[in-house]
Amino acid sequence: MSDITVHVEHLTKKYGETLALDDISFDVGKGELFGFIGPDGAGKTTLFRLLTTLLLADTGTGSVAGFDLVKDYKNIRNISGYMPGKFSLYQDLTVEENLKFFATIFGTTIHENYDLIKNIYQQIEPFKNRKAGKLSGGMKQKLALSCAMIHKPEVLFLDEPTTGVDAVSRLEFWEMLKRLKDAGITILVSTPYMDEASLCDRVALMQNGRIMTISTPGQVIRNYPLSLLSVKSSDIYHLLGELRDYPGVHSVYAFGQSAHVAFSAQKIEPEALSEFLKKKKHESVEITRIDATIEDCFMELMNSPE
Ligand code: ADP
Repeated sequence: MSDITVHVEHLTKKYGETLALDDISFDVGKGELFGFIGPDGAGKTTLFRLLTTLLLADTGTGSVAGFDLVKDYKNIRNISGYMPGKFSLYQDLTVEENLKFFATIFGTTIHENYDLIKNIYQQIEPFKNRKAGKLSGGMKQKLALSCAMIHKPEVLFLDEPTTGVDAVSRLEFWEMLKRLKDAGITILVSTPYMDEASLCDRVALMQNGRIMTISTPGQVIRNYPLSLLSVKSSDIYHLLGELRDYPGVHSVYAFGQSAHVAFSAQKIEPEALSEFLKKKKHESVEITRIDATIEDCFMELMNSPE
């Protein structure tokens, strides 16, 4: 048995003039929890549709569990679970009816594979007679995952499963994924939330149809080539522009209520920067040395020449 579950080489997909996927290649190992991290329009959904054989690539090849994306699409559909970005549930069917429906189309029953979904489904079972359309976001997400799992897939493709879900349900969801991974299931998951990168074994950072880097989350951060300061002042609007003019500054981004300032020079002097900002009439200036987050790494990769 190969240790590679998903293998993809040079996949390209265009919609008219839009290049949605531009020469994508990667491998996902058996039992890996692999994240595709990128903003709207990065190409995540298109990639998942290719991998679940719902779309054909223009060029390139790929396989899932050794099955070819084109020739063996039926095998791939049998061994894959897919949770599309927009919930795939039938809103007018109840929780239980939805689950039964997905079990039936895969020729199985809820009973047969109940053990696999038990931990997840039990949380929504008290509402099994409620229509799916009347569930909260977090509950819909659990039902959609149960439906994607009911035929005991070897590989799960989860397209933005946590988008629009509250922070507590997001965390719970990742804990569920961890348990599924521990049960030996290979999981490919996409997300626009950079903070979820650290929950994956490896991540591909995506932008404009391309993979900018593939690595463990820790290695992505260790590869960050710049020194960073977080800077706050009472006037964030002028702060951003003025920081960009400061000598040695490589880039400046707004991060919530503060600015992240990246310096290419190793030697940075927060005191001198503080003096500079005070001369510019900034008040309540706070400057802290910080480590890069995945978001800082993403910004830097986006702007680096190839
Ligand atoms: P993501 O899931 O990361 O948001 P998508 O794969 O949905 O990315 O989209 C990638 C690019 O392809 C975007 O520019 C999007 O507008 C475009 N796109 C996606 N689906 C279609 C479609 N059916 N027709 C035309 N353009 C599309």
